[in-house]
Amino acid sequence: MDHFLYRDGTLRAEDVPVPEIAAAVGTPFYLYSTATFRRHFRLFDEALAGLDHLVCYAMKANSNQAILKLLAEMGAGMDVVSGGEYARAKAAGVPGERIVFSGVGKTREEMRMALEGGIRQFNVESEPELEALNDLAVTMGLKAPIAIRVNPDVDAKTHAKIATGKAENKFGIPISRARAVYDRAAGMAGVEITGIDVHIGSQLTDLEPFRQAYLKVKDLTRQLRADGHDIRRLDLGGGLGIPYQRGNEAPPLPTEYGALIRETLGDLGCEIEIEPGRLIAGNAGIMVSRVIYVKEGEGRKFLIVDSGMNDLIRPAMYEAHHDIVPVQEPAPGIARKTYDVVGPVCETGDTFARDRSMPPMRAGDLVAFRSAGAYGAVMASEYNSRPLIPEVLVNGDQFAVIRARPSYDEMINRDRIPEWL
Ligand SMILES: *Cc1c(COP(=O)(O)O)cnc(C)c1O
Repeated sequence: MDHFLYRDGTLRAEDVPVPEIAAAVGTPFYLYSTATFRRHFRLFDEALAGLDHLVCYAMKANSNQAILKLLAEMGAGMDVVSGGEYARAKAAGVPGERIVFSGVGKTREEMRMALEGGIRQFNVESEPELEALNDLAVTMGLKAPIAIRVNPDVDAKTHAKIATGKAENKFGIPISRARAVYDRAAGMAGVEITGIDVHIGSQLTDLEPFRQAYLKVKDLTRQLRADGHDIRRLDLGGGLGIPYQRGNEAPPLPTEYGALIRETLGDLGCEIEIEPGRLIAGNAGIMVSRVIYVKEGEGRKFLIVDSGMNDLIRPAMYEAHHDIVPVQEPAPGIARKTYDVVGPVCETGDTFARDRSMPPMRAGDLVAFRSAGAYGAVMASEYNSRPLIPEVLVNGDQFAVIRARPSYDEMINRDRIPEWL
């Protein structure tokens, strides 16, 4: 559910008509709904009610300061995967004890930053990382709180680029080696074991892979406790999928996911952490573009819009589907046409949709790409020297630009010409 609905023939974000924002900020732009972000965070928080828990928003999905502040004020922790994300979380007012640090390639500089600024736990993904963290913490006279990310070797049944829990993926320590690695960690002066971490992938549309992974984590918890380790916290990762296509079967809801967690792990007496990103942000945002031209090709019609693959890369990168709807509500029963929806970038990969059935569109019309709040703005680039598009946040009947569009000069002036030229 989201807060982008037609009213009086025009798409609104909460109570604000989208054309009003387009007139104020220019197209293309990302547009987010405060109410939807709040609703999605609350769904997860309530799904784990009664369990000692923390919802750590995976901020790589959308890391704008305004979004982080909005979620942090509701009590969210953050899952960060880089020093930059750690700095963003701190800048938004998130205390260190609510930040978990994931990722396979944490550098010593990044670890130092988190140890100095405060950290809830490092999710350690390899033995070399464990050694590096231990060495650093010992030199700093600290104990780094850790969970070890285990790779449970389950098939998340999602797009290959975002599956992370199979043995051949780069993530985590093979679960079969976990006991040996925990024993090693227990002998290190610079680390303190707090629990176990697992994250098997993104855009999961079925609970079964989660169940398989969590049952393996349950067995491991018992074994590690029998080995004498104090396993008091389980970080279960993120990954719950969202409905990208209206009319298709919807993925499981956070309540069902919460029930699964309770059923598989609820009796272990552990604190539960989850790291949802996409489900919190995805349907809380749209990308608004304007049609530049309608071009008649050889047997096809191209809708050329003013946003490109540099602004929203998911279709090019993951063959992802985004519903694309006109901002002016089409008349009921109007005959539909078939378009290839493409951007201006000089690549055939710059195609958002092929053979998409839409109401008849004209140059100048506004269109909205739905479900663009996660892995949209954060993955954007300035390819083809197209400045990063702005982000706008709506709250009821108000809206604010939360990241401005850089001018051409601002974009160009980031380059430096060496003296010798
Ligand atoms: C990407 C990621 C997440 C979030 O995944 P979503 O599918 O956006 O919920 C959570 N944890 C880790 C470690 C990740 O890499």
